[in-house]
Amino acid sequence: MRKPIIAGNWKMNKLAGEGARFLMDLREKLPEKDKVDTVVCAPFIHLPLLTEAARDFPVSIGAQNMHFEDSGAFTGEVSPEMLKDILVDYVVLGHSERRELFGETDESVNQKVKAAFNHELTPIVCVGESLEQRENNETFTFVEQQVKNGLEGLSEDQLKQVVIAYEPIWAIGTGKTATSEEANDVCTHIRQVLQDTYSKGVAQAVRIQYGGSVKPQNIEELLGMSDIDGALVGGASLEEDSFLKLVEAGA
Ligand code: PGA
Repeated sequence: MRKPIIAGNWKMNKLAGEGARFLMDLREKLPEKDKVDTVVCAPFIHLPLLTEAARDFPVSIGAQNMHFEDSGAFTGEVSPEMLKDILVDYVVLGHSERRELFGETDESVNQKVKAAFNHELTPIVCVGESLEQRENNETFTFVEQQVKNGLEGLSEDQLKQVVIAYEPIWAIGTGKTATSEEANDVCTHIRQVLQDTYSKGVAQAVRIQYGGSVKPQNIEELLGMSDIDGALVGGASLEEDSFLKLVEAGA
């Protein structure tokens, strides 16, 4: 009922030409859009080239961050309007690397989520606990707070379009995947929070991705879980063959 969504997060990797070639090579191979939403989230500077390269085939392009203001004196920032102008469709917001290294907070994430909707960008909102929080049994309460704060003030219609990426920090880039059960438990909790806070309709519509060392070897099992609707993938999205396998698993 919820269409799977597989998103590659290239982080700060690849040169522009490499990115464009990657898309060109996948051109004829990607599954159709009615089966799976395929997204590539690339560095800002590559986005115009990639949206051009992706124009006629079933892949959408996403940014990995943005500012929430439309324009003005914000040196070094990129606005949602600028992203929309070059045909970007998605934006990753509140990735744990941005929270940890660049001071993102639930509040700034919330401002950006609202700004994304003002410009018809689909936000992929990242949440997830640290190893310490998991060991202290704080995972559910922490993630719940991140979800509520990040989505505060959205309309029912907007909420239904949100994509949430549950990414336990201890599983990102470490090779240490959460077991499918561990991942699904948190995703089920997130859906319950959406139901209790908003409505059953919202809870059933929102797509929840798992992220953290997803690879071709574990994607099928993860996608087979009741509340996991896709994946946000770092390392394994950098290589064409493995990215294609991940997308095919979603189709
Ligand atoms: P990983 O990264 O797949 O390399 O663990 C996931 C992410 O940070 O989105």
